[in-house]
Amino acid sequence: MNYANIKYYDIANGPGVRVSLYVSGCRNHCKNCFNPETWDFAYGQPFTPEVEDKILKGLEPSYIKGFSLLGGDPFEPENQLALVDFMERIKKIFPEKSVWAWTGYDFEADLLTGKKGDPDVTMRLLRCIDVLVDGRFVEALKNPELLFRGSSNQRIILVRQSLERDELVRMMAETDRLYVRAFTPHDGDGLFEILGDGQTMQYVEPPFSREKTAEFLRGNCVGNDNVFAVELKDCEKLIGYILLKPLGERRFEAGWIFHRDYHGLGYAYEAVNAVFDHALTELGAYKFTAAVDERNAPSLALAKGLGMKYVRSEKEGANTLLVYEKTKGNK
Ligand code: SF4
Repeated sequence: MNYANIKYYDIANGPGVRVSLYVSGCRNHCKNCFNPETWDFAYGQPFTPEVEDKILKGLEPSYIKGFSLLGGDPFEPENQLALVDFMERIKKIFPEKSVWAWTGYDFEADLLTGKKGDPDVTMRLLRCIDVLVDGRFVEALKNPELLFRGSSNQRIILVRQSLERDELVRMMAETDRLYVRAFTPHDGDGLFEILGDGQTMQYVEPPFSREKTAEFLRGNCVGNDNVFAVELKDCEKLIGYILLKPLGERRFEAGWIFHRDYHGLGYAYEAVNAVFDHALTELGAYKFTAAVDERNAPSLALAKGLGMKYVRSEKEGANTLLVYEKTKGNK
C-alpha cells in the first residue's frame, strides 16, 4: 500500500489533536472529490514498517487524542489487508485514544456484507475503529457547515455499539467523556432507569412506568434527529436524554434529564454544550430557550453555566418556570 500524506498535528479530522494517515487508492471516484490524486493506488510513498513506527511515536504524547484514517479509501480490499495488523497494534498500544476512519463505502451494504474484500479482515479492521464516517461524497448534498463530512448523506457511526446491537448507531457529538448519539430500540432499560426514577423526575412529571418508557422511546426518541442519547464512553451506559424542540425561525427549546447517579459531575454541561454546538452547525440553530422549574436548582445552575440568560417567568399550573435564552454568538 502507498500513502498520500501523514499529519502529526491534525485538528480537522475528528475531535482534538490527532495523527492522520491518508492512504492511496480509491475506486469510488466521487464527482468533485477533494483528493482525486489519491484515487491512484501508486500515488505517494510506500507504507513501510518504518512509517508505522513513526506514526506510533507520533501518537505517544498525551495531548494527541487519537488516530484518523482517511484516503483514498482505507476500505479498498488491498488497503484493508495492508492496514489491519497495524490498526490492531494501535488499538493495543493506545486503548485510550479514539480511532476515526472515513470510507466512501456503505457500512451496512458494503462492509457488513463483506463485499469489499475478505469479510474476516473487514471485521477485524472495523473492530479497531471507534467512529466511522461512511458514504460517497455527493456534490448535490454538499454542506460546508457539516462537521467531519462533506455531504449530508454521509453518516457518523459508532462502530462498536453498532456491531454489538446489530443496528446502526449514529453519533452527533463526542466529548472527552461522552458520546452524544441517536436513540435506538435497545435503549429501553437505560431510559427507564432515568425516566422511571421519582427523584430524577420530581420537577418534570410523574415517573414513567416501563410500558410508558417503551412507548416514549418508540414514539418520541428513535428516528428523531432532535432527541439525543448521552452515553459514557468507557462503559456505554446511557446517562442522559436531551431534547431540542423546534420552535420555528431557527429557535429550539432545550430540555434535559440526567440519571440521578451522574448529577453534579459536569456530564450534563458537557453533553448539552455539545448538543448546542451540533445544533448550531447541523440544524441551523440561532436561539435556544429553556423553561426550568424555579425549584430545580441544579437545572437552573446548568442553564446559567451554559451561558443562558434569564428572560421571564411563566406559570404552569401551580408551578413557576423560569425561562432562559441563549443566542448564537453569546458564550
Ligand atoms: S470516497 Fe473519498 S477519496 Fe474516494 S472518491 Fe469519494 S471523496 Fe474521493
